[in-house]
Amino acid sequence: MLGHLSETIKSRRFPVIVELVAADLRREAQVLEIASHLAMVPDVVAGSVTSYAGGRFGQDPVRVGTAVRARGLPPNIHLTCVNQDRAGIRKTLKALRALNILNVFALTGDWPTTGDARPVFDLDSVMLIDVIASMRAEHDVPFHISVAVSPFKYAREDCLYQYLKLEKKVAAGANLAITQVGWDARKFAELKRYVDERGLSIPLMGNVYVLNPRTAERMATGNPPGCWVSPALVEQIRRESEQSDGGLHARLERAAETVAVLKGLGYAGAYIGGTHDAAHVVRILERAAELEPQWQECAERLQYGDPHGFYIDSAKPRPKRHLPMVVQTFDVLGRSFQLTQDTWLRRQLTTMFAWIDRRPGLRELTERFEYWIKRPLFGCEACGNCVLDRMEYVCPQTCPKQMRNGPCGGTLNTRCEVVEQECIWVSVYQRAEAASRIPDLKTFIPPPDRRLTRTSSWINYFLGRDSRPEHRRPVDASTAPPEPVREVRNQRTHPPSPSEQRREVSV
Ligand code: SF4
Repeated sequence: MLGHLSETIKSRRFPVIVELVAADLRREAQVLEIASHLAMVPDVVAGSVTSYAGGRFGQDPVRVGTAVRARGLPPNIHLTCVNQDRAGIRKTLKALRALNILNVFALTGDWPTTGDARPVFDLDSVMLIDVIASMRAEHDVPFHISVAVSPFKYAREDCLYQYLKLEKKVAAGANLAITQVGWDARKFAELKRYVDERGLSIPLMGNVYVLNPRTAERMATGNPPGCWVSPALVEQIRRESEQSDGGLHARLERAAETVAVLKGLGYAGAYIGGTHDAAHVVRILERAAELEPQWQECAERLQYGDPHGFYIDSAKPRPKRHLPMVVQTFDVLGRSFQLTQDTWLRRQLTTMFAWIDRRPGLRELTERFEYWIKRPLFGCEACGNCVLDRMEYVCPQTCPKQMRNGPCGGTLNTRCEVVEQECIWVSVYQRAEAASRIPDLKTFIPPPDRRLTRTSSWINYFLGRDSRPEHRRPVDASTAPPEPVREVRNQRTHPPSPSEQRREVSV
């Protein structure tokens, strides 16, 4: 099938995807011209058309992708959870199927930084992959699903959860993993080792970003979210920019060295960003071919990580943490009452909640009572589909993006991309580790049934209405008018300070 990534990735030795950012109308026209030039580069197998890159509204990626294809370059369409609920996403997928555009890049998406519309975040990226994979199976549409992974996380929990989430993405149906931007060969190697050691059947593409001084300064503050440039690299780029060509040669040389390292490490290909210039791409690839025999020397130069950051191969064993009292208490209650089994108590409670459910006043009172207990303990938002027991008693609704399957890629040293708080997934990971339940975090948590918002999750659970891992609801059946994400208070208005970035991690 022409332009289908699963075919091209198998048939080419080291295929390359180039990121195409269509940020506004003027840029869109340029992007299409660029696509024509990139289509002439033999190793370039696709143009990856962004959506909401860096949280900014861009052009409709489906429209741009169609035009890109007309210029001879197969598109890879970015599909995010930012502005579409599950029904909207399925509609987009049907449109892609009708257009025979089958390469999609499934992402959670950055928090919008422009526009007045509230973001949707009805699904997270793992749910999104599941929706695409289900459609692939149901309608026999061979969607190729690219997903993102960031090895460039230098706080322990951030990093380990990224890898764990990749496993969930593979299990959900991902076909290709593309890394976040980074300039650290040790981290590229760490990810490859992780994937190989666990036998994950997914090819990896490394991100090769041609970094200019302005972008380096911005990324040094963690902006766009998930992108981070070390102070050493910022300084290096600043020095290079004083050269007569403004540092262009050095930038392209670093990109070529990165490609050589990726080839040496056994990556399946490269994902080039930061340049739209086909001549640059050709230069990078030709130089990388020359450097390939010396890839290990290139790897020694590509060491722009955090020297004090977390790397699996040098991590010291941690003293065992204690579970917070609330988790211990609920663990004991869970073990004692066995409510997940078909016990006498469960049958009695089911009868009682069915009786309550038939009386609207009592039903409402139960919902308020549940909320009254859970709000102070967990920050409950009355979603009606409680998965506290699957998330180590951390409420998913306290994540601004309402993620249920692990962190997005936007954290910086454990700090949330959106609000001034620690990423909730740090606690989830630490608690699961303390309770020796890390493997349980790999369980897929399906999308909540939004029709149950502001109803009692206790009633929903006992009457089998809610959506949870052991009781999945058909995605279409659980669609409701999108409930905008809650008002985000304490929203980040500035990048985290160095002291925040270095903050100690605590349960
Ligand atoms: S998962 Fe839903 S019901 Fe459970 S505490 Fe969070 S908002 Fe409340």
